[in-house]
Amino acid sequence: MIFSWLAARRRRAIRSRPFPSEWEDSLQRNCRQASWLSAAEGRRLREWIAVFLAEKRFEGCGGQTIDDSVRLSIAGQAGLVVLGFPEEYFDRLKSVLVYPGDWVGRKVTALEGGATLEWRERRLGEAWSGGSVVLSWPAVRRGGRLQDGARSVVIHEFAHLVDAMNGPFDGLPPLPRGIDARDWATRLSGCRERYEEALDEGRFVALDDYAADSPVEFFAVASECFFQDPHRLARQDADLYNLLAASWQQDPKSRVPLSALRGR
Ligand SMILES: [Zn+2]
Repeated sequence: MIFSWLAARRRRAIRSRPFPSEWEDSLQRNCRQASWLSAAEGRRLREWIAVFLAEKRFEGCGGQTIDDSVRLSIAGQAGLVVLGFPEEYFDRLKSVLVYPGDWVGRKVTALEGGATLEWRERRLGEAWSGGSVVLSWPAVRRGGRLQDGARSVVIHEFAHLVDAMNGPFDGLPPLPRGIDARDWATRLSGCRERYEEALDEGRFVALDDYAADSPVEFFAVASECFFQDPHRLARQDADLYNLLAASWQQDPKSRVPLSALRGR
C-alpha cells in the first residue's frame, strides 16, 4: 500500500517534468504514430514514456547499443498500445532486452502421449511472463517508422503482455467494464475462423500468416494491424476492428492517415 502510494507519487513527479528535446527528436524519428495523436494524447504518451524509461531496465545483448533511438522507439510504440487504458505501466515487466538482429529461440510443443517436440526457430521478439521482453532492434526500428507493412514487433510483444494480464496467454485480453467477455470472445473466434478460411482458400488477407499459428498469435498479429494499418483491417473485417477498438479503447482509424503505409 505504502509502496503503491510512493510509486504513484514518484510517477506524478516524473510525468510533470518537461519532455527532453533530445527524446522528442528521437520519438519523431522513430515512432511515426506519435505525430498523428491529438495534443492531449500526445501529452499523455510523452508522460507515459518518461515513466516507462525511468522504471524499466534496457539491456543491449549481442553487442547492441542502447541509445535514445532504441529507447524512444520501443517506449513510443509500447505507450501507444496502452494509450486508451487509464494507467498501465506493465508493473511485472522489469527489463527490455534488445538484440542487433533476429535470434534463434527454442520452441517446445507437447505431443500426444506426454512426449514433447523441441526445435529452434528465428525470432524477432518474445514476451516472457517472468518480466522480460526480448526484441530485435532492426524489427523495432522498421515497425516504429512504418517501414514493415502492418507489422510492429513492439506492438506484437506488448499485446502478448496485455493478453497475460488477466491470466495465461490465451488471446483473450482484459476488457473494460460493460463489455460482455463471452460475447467478445465468441465474436473474436468467429473472426479467426473467417481469417483461416480465407487463408485456406488463398484469398487476400490483411493479417500476416503468423496469425494462423494460434488464438494467442491471432490476437497479437491482429493488434499490430489494428494500430499500424487500421483502414485496411476495418475494410477487411469490420467486426474484428470493432472488437479490438473495444479492447484497446482506441480508434486508430480516426487518426492514422489513409496514405500512412507507403506503396499501399
Ligand atoms: Zn507472438
